[in-house]
Amino acid sequence: MDVSELLDSLNDKQRDAVAAPSKNMLVLAGAGSGKTRVLVHRIAWLVQVEQISPHSILSVTFTNKAAAEMRGRVEQSIGGNIHGMWVGTFHGLAHRLLRMHFQEAKLPQTFQVLDSDDQLRMIKRVVRSLQLDEKKWPAKQAMYYINGKKDEGLRPQHIDCQFDPTEQTFVKIYQTYQETCDRAGLVDFAELLLRAHELWLNNPILLEHYQQRFTRILVDEFQDTNAIQYAWLNMLGKKHGNVMIVGDDDQSIYGWRGAKIENIQRFVKDFDAETIRLEQNYRSTANILNAANALITNNNNRLGKDLWTEDDAGETISLYTAFNEIDEARFISGRIKQWLEDGNSLDDVALLYRSNAQSRLLEEALLQARLPYRIYGGLRFFERQEIKDALAYLRLINNRNDDASFERIINTPTRGIGNKALTLIRDCARSQGSTLWDACIYMIEQNELAGRSAKSIKAFVELILQLEDDSTNLNLDQQANHVIQHSGLKAMYQAEKGERAAARIENLNELVTACSTYEVDPEVEEELTPLTAFLTHASLEAGESQADEYESAVQLMTLHSAKGLEFPLVFIVGMEEGMFPSQQSAEDIVRLEEERRLCYVGMTRAMKKLYLTHAESRRLYGQEKYHRQSRFLKEIPDKFIDEIRMKNQVAKPKTTGRFSNTITMETFENTGFKLGQRVMHQKFGEGVVLNFEGTGAQSRVQVNFEAHGTKWLVVAYARLEAI
Ligand code: ATP
Ligand code: MG
Repeated sequence: MDVSELLDSLNDKQRDAVAAPSKNMLVLAGAGSGKTRVLVHRIAWLVQVEQISPHSILSVTFTNKAAAEMRGRVEQSIGGNIHGMWVGTFHGLAHRLLRMHFQEAKLPQTFQVLDSDDQLRMIKRVVRSLQLDEKKWPAKQAMYYINGKKDEGLRPQHIDCQFDPTEQTFVKIYQTYQETCDRAGLVDFAELLLRAHELWLNNPILLEHYQQRFTRILVDEFQDTNAIQYAWLNMLGKKHGNVMIVGDDDQSIYGWRGAKIENIQRFVKDFDAETIRLEQNYRSTANILNAANALITNNNNRLGKDLWTEDDAGETISLYTAFNEIDEARFISGRIKQWLEDGNSLDDVALLYRSNAQSRLLEEALLQARLPYRIYGGLRFFERQEIKDALAYLRLINNRNDDASFERIINTPTRGIGNKALTLIRDCARSQGSTLWDACIYMIEQNELAGRSAKSIKAFVELILQLEDDSTNLNLDQQANHVIQHSGLKAMYQAEKGERAAARIENLNELVTACSTYEVDPEVEEELTPLTAFLTHASLEAGESQADEYESAVQLMTLHSAKGLEFPLVFIVGMEEGMFPSQQSAEDIVRLEEERRLCYVGMTRAMKKLYLTHAESRRLYGQEKYHRQSRFLKEIPDKFIDEIRMKNQVAKPKTTGRFSNTITMETFENTGFKLGQRVMHQKFGEGVVLNFEGTGAQSRVQVNFEAHGTKWLVVAYARLEAI
């Protein structure tokens, strides 16, 4: 790209920012106004026009993927590569510094990064070694404490806890944990940032070296920086005054992880920065943009921005009120199919949800519709660790020969069965040509196991037998629930606390729901127990590989991971009170505002068409729940929204007062029935249609009968009557 092209594709304000003489600058602007574009062009400008060596440029992005993209975009626009330029996340850059200067940072050359699972395990050990009561001092809480302090830049000796005995204990844990890490050469995530900060603090010469080297610093998504990141930047960039940050206070969504919106104003003051505001949005149609703008005005204490577009009004936002969660998922897959048939690409479609557990039903609907999909930044439902753990218990109960499941759970949760004991069992199985389970039994009978592990292995065997005994007469969902509760898995994940653990518990609950709605295929029903059938279904779904990298595919992701991205077609699902916003945030204004910002982020990902969906009833934790629609939907003015409702809908009538654009949903492949329709069966009486599958003579409907519960029926034989 030559210089004129570099500037031609920008508006005046963007150009001002890109071509400004070096100084500290804040580019403050709403979603889709070209902040990231400005950052990329600024780098290209610095290299091409100001002849700044890439070696002198440091650019901070929010994710590793964004870093790779930024590098690619800059290289493309300058038509060469940018060796020597540092692009990465705060953590990535800190890690790089520590590797290069491990001695000054007082780390062994071979130091390893500790992920949060490992960190938790370490802290647990420390709590035990200090002979503290683990119930009173949960490791997870200590981990929060330690990471929080590190994020604030505090070491144990900086913490004043003279008069607070509780805090004294936490400080003690922090200190012992840190000593253990230091001895072992381990560095946790928060430590990366703190160490890098201290590295400069304690080595003024090194700091000066980097201050002189990085004469140009750029930061994207600045609204989500925390205290230690700010301090680090302050140290590196303030002296020479060439820092450009871009951000949007309305898109700050990591407050729960210590991010501080106030850093934006603080930067302006500390760095005496000039503020440039961008006001034109290039991403979305006017309807989408104005709807998002209207939503966000419900927040207080905003820095205030205007955002407009030259784009047409475009299509209205579609709001779909689903009868239940299955209907919601099916509606979405139907619309995506239509999108594909209209000649569009699947790559252009994103499904956004509040929490990971919500992906399961969407995945199922997409699989059924044969639409390839990819989960962005995460695993598919049946591939998630906690789900595999729970399934492994069910599998072993179902089939003792399942060695893989045996290996997976023999020591999960930990029950003191180490590698040594396991090797003995494996050897025995090998020499006897038996399964691991049988080898276990044999060794117990022959007294071939030593001391502590003998006891633990016996206990494990008894646990499995007991679980089987207790659960054989239960329904599939009760069985799953029983196993999750009594295997120790639930307690294990509960003890972890925090966001990741909460997501795991949510997934386990979702597994129970999956079991409660799973229906055996009548053709194989005779031969398989419901459990076997379900386990097969789970393996098949997990085995179905993700769309490969080059195949075009629908993108599924949480709202959080959609930050910075854009897609022509976007669905935001589960827009219900209690889901989004979540129950807890509804009661706390600070959290509620963060949820609203998250909704703003979600809506502003859409370029051409946005669907918002919610379900009138939803199975959660194996129970039918009725939720009101999300308040965020009500905060969007009616004129931007069209409601799509099913004809003959029999679910609770709603009085939204909105113009209702009623369309007829396809009847299920000539069955003549619709989701939510009331029907009559000669033997089972009255019921409501919940689901359907198959075509032609094979088509089946799932009906919830008032007196007989849910059943799958082959339409051709059931002689259902619509009522
Ligand atoms: P977010 O707040 O979501 O991170 P952003 O402010 O970083 O958004 P970009 O992603 O940089 O916005 O830009 C949004 C879209 O608008 C992109 O597709 C970008 O290429 C396009 N765009 C930005 N500026 C212009 C312009 N001057 N002319 C045409 N298109 C533009
Ligand atoms: Mg951006």
